[in-house]
Amino acid sequence: MSAIRIDGDRVAAGVLAEVAARVEARVGAGLPRPHLAAVLVGQNPASETYVRLKRREAERVGIGTSDHRLPASATTAEVVALVESLNRDPEVSGILVQQPLPPQVEVEAVVAAVDPTKDVDGFHPLNAGRLLLGQPGLVACTPAGIIRMLDEYEVPIEGRRAVVVGRSNIVGKPVTLLLLQRHATVTVCHTRTVDLPAVCREADILVAAVGRLGLIRADWVRPGAAVIDVGVNRRDDGRLGGDVDPAVAEVAGWLSPVPGGVGPVTRAMLMANTCRAEEARRPG
Ligand code: NAP
Repeated sequence: MSAIRIDGDRVAAGVLAEVAARVEARVGAGLPRPHLAAVLVGQNPASETYVRLKRREAERVGIGTSDHRLPASATTAEVVALVESLNRDPEVSGILVQQPLPPQVEVEAVVAAVDPTKDVDGFHPLNAGRLLLGQPGLVACTPAGIIRMLDEYEVPIEGRRAVVVGRSNIVGKPVTLLLLQRHATVTVCHTRTVDLPAVCREADILVAAVGRLGLIRADWVRPGAAVIDVGVNRRDDGRLGGDVDPAVAEVAGWLSPVPGGVGPVTRAMLMANTCRAEEARRPG
C-alpha cells in the first residue's frame, strides 16, 4: 500500500484563500487592513529566510507587514521595550518574535510581554492556558495547522488513538491538547518513553515532532495510520528531511512530506491568526 500524500502546499493555499477573502471583505468595508509586525534580533540566516517567506505570504493575502530589528547585542529590556511599543501601536494586529533569540535575551520575558490579543504565535502563557482549559484564544500555528491537515484529508480523529512524539511547548503539548479537544485518546512520548516503537504502533494518528532525521521507521507504524511529520532536519547532502523515514509511505494510510507538509501550513495559519486577531480587536 502507498500512503496518501498530505499536500501541505494545497492545504496552505486553501487557508490563504480564506484569509484573503476575509481581508478583502474588511478592507472593502472600510476597516483597517490586518498588519503583522516581525521582531528580529541579530542576523540569523534561517530567521531571515522564515521572515521573508512569511512576508511574501502576507503580501499575497493583503496583510500589511513591518520588520523591527535590534542588534544581536540587544538586552532583554530592549527587546521587551520594542514589543511593548508594538503592543501600543494601533496599526499592529499581530506580533511575531522570531526565535531563536540571542542567548542573553530571556525568551520567556519577551513572550510574556506580547499583548495576548496580538500573540499570533500563540506562545503567551495566557493563550497556552486558554488552550489547556478549552477556552477560545490564539492557538500556536503548527499544532493548529496539523489539525487542519487532518481535517482537509478527512482523517477521523474522534475516538482514535493518537500518539505524539515530542513534548515541546510549541508543538508537542499544544497538538496533544487539540487532539484531546477533538476526542482522540492521546499518548505523549519523549526521550524517557520506554519502547517507543511499540507505543507508536498503537497510533491511528502519529505526530512526529522530534528533530531527529528518520527516527520513525516503517515497522513502528500501524498499517493505514495517518502520520504527520513535523521534523525539519538537515540531511548529510544538505537537503531537508523529516523525522519520519520515507519507507513509512509503504505502510501508512496518509503521510505528510518534508518539505511541503507542515511548513507551508504553519505559515498559512500565521496569516489566519493575524486576520483573526484583527477581527477580534476591531469587529466589523
Ligand atoms: P524540541 O523543543 O527540541 O523538542 C523535541 C522533543 O522531542 C522533546 O520533547 C524531546 O524529548 C523529544 N525527543 C528528542 N529525541 C527523542 C527520541 N530519540 N525519542 C523520543 N523523543 C525524543 O523540538 P520542537 O521545537 O518541538 O521541534 C521538533 C521538530 O519540529 C524540529 O525538527 C523542528 O525544527 C520542527 N518544527 C517544524 C515546524 C514547521 O513549521 N515545520 C515548526 C516547529 C518545529 P524530551 O522532552 O524528553 O527532551
